[in-house]
Amino acid sequence: MPIQELKKYSSQVKTGQNFSAFDAGSLEDLFQYELQHPRLNRTVKGKLFLREILDLTSMQVSLNRLPAGAAVPFIHKHKQNEELYIFIKGNGQMQVDGETFDIKEGTVVRIAPDGGRVWRNNSSEDLYYIVIQGKDGSLSQDTFDDGIPLETPPSW
Ligand code: ZN
Repeated sequence: MPIQELKKYSSQVKTGQNFSAFDAGSLEDLFQYELQHPRLNRTVKGKLFLREILDLTSMQVSLNRLPAGAAVPFIHKHKQNEELYIFIKGNGQMQVDGETFDIKEGTVVRIAPDGGRVWRNNSSEDLYYIVIQGKDGSLSQDTFDDGIPLETPPSW
């Protein structure tokens, strides 16, 4: 089931042979994005999934803005994906398997698939964060093992 109107954004995606780029706008404008949540059966504002827009093949990523005082209304876990929550701005709380801790700009939280998670913005300012999910245990090499320096200089 499509969870957001992708055609709406396709004209804004710049693509090359080996890249796709999308300008989602400023984070303050994230409320312009809304999606129909398949389980809540209601429209969620301020959440933009990027996998289909960018043709991501190994991860799902979302940009998020949670209004002041708002709470995610359900606890969820995953079948096979671990998640990384990167909090960019604001304050709130996260709860994983019943354990509550504070989150704020600069907090990064990794949650294993089986962790029951929920979070809230119990502050007076909006909370901004990025969520990345990928298949748990799937990364076999990274960074200096995977990167290949090229001899070609930048063309600018
Ligand atoms: Zn999740």
